[in-house]
Amino acid sequence: MTSTDQQPFLSVRDLKVHFSTEDGVVKAVDGLTFDLAKGKTLGIVGESGSGKSVTNLTILGLHDRERTAIDGEILLDGKELLTASERELEKLRGNKMSMIFQDALASLSPYHTIGKQIGETYRKHTGASKAEARARAIEMLKRVGIPQPDVRVDDYPHQFSGGMRQRAMIAMALVCDPELLIADEPTTALDVTVQAQIMDLLKDLQQEFGTAIIFITHDLGVIADIADDVLVMYGGRCVERGTKKEVLRAPQHPYTWGLLGSMPSLDGPVDVPLSPIPGSPPSLLNPPTGCRFHPRCTFTEKVTGGLCASAQPLLEITDGRGAACHLTADQRRDFFADFAATRSH
Ligand code: SF4
Repeated sequence: MTSTDQQPFLSVRDLKVHFSTEDGVVKAVDGLTFDLAKGKTLGIVGESGSGKSVTNLTILGLHDRERTAIDGEILLDGKELLTASERELEKLRGNKMSMIFQDALASLSPYHTIGKQIGETYRKHTGASKAEARARAIEMLKRVGIPQPDVRVDDYPHQFSGGMRQRAMIAMALVCDPELLIADEPTTALDVTVQAQIMDLLKDLQQEFGTAIIFITHDLGVIADIADDVLVMYGGRCVERGTKKEVLRAPQHPYTWGLLGSMPSLDGPVDVPLSPIPGSPPSLLNPPTGCRFHPRCTFTEKVTGGLCASAQPLLEITDGRGAACHLTADQRRDFFADFAATRSH
């Protein structure tokens, strides 16, 4: 079965990922649903511990199987990944799906040349000869903008700058033309100029290969640059979903307002003071009852009957858009208008 307009390339349904620790069960992801089409980028945004990275490690099958209880459905081009064997997943990783991590130095082996590492990934999945794999490594280094790729292919990771290592890791992730690329904070450790170059590179490669991309970040500025659709996660759940324009220009959830308020305005005056969200993310060992954001939310008193602390707000999605909050649509519109006014002067 192949993906069509009717059937998304990646489909995640009611995903729950719970794992055991010495202190108890961590409900890292608690009922997540989303779709991703070929050639599109989904930005997943949230603070540390919101479940973003766990979701993606689960899609790739890189979770600890012994300690993790998973429920739900993950379909990649019609194939169910949660029941796939380790062998099947290994084949899919690299061939069909691939990942770029934040820290290239930790992901590349210091003992082998860049060319060997890219080439080995290619050989493993295609059965190419050593000479073919070397030629492919040079081609990929060239494609990601490494100067003199036929020379630099024999360098070790420590001989590359941080930005070049990140490019090399992207080359390695793309060497088998994966149809799904998961990028987990891939530019966080880089300076702004290199960050912009890497983002441009990913966009170019996506246009060239039609890759579906999941881009995980805590930075809404990065989302504004690269995403088509946005999923905001808090405490292991999706709290808001929509197109980039909907989520960034007319957000519906108090947590998304908090994220926007804690970063420089995307297009307003530069001197608007930042207002970080008070408190810290919830423990997923013992998450808050009701809306998981309620201990930090400044709007709980606007909801009658103490619902915020007692009842979990549902995420109802219509045409890809939704927010999980007990405030009425009119309240959300008015409160967001007040918030936007404080950001524009
Ligand atoms: Fe805030 Fe209540 Fe909405 Fe949760 S449901 S975001 S606590 S107003």
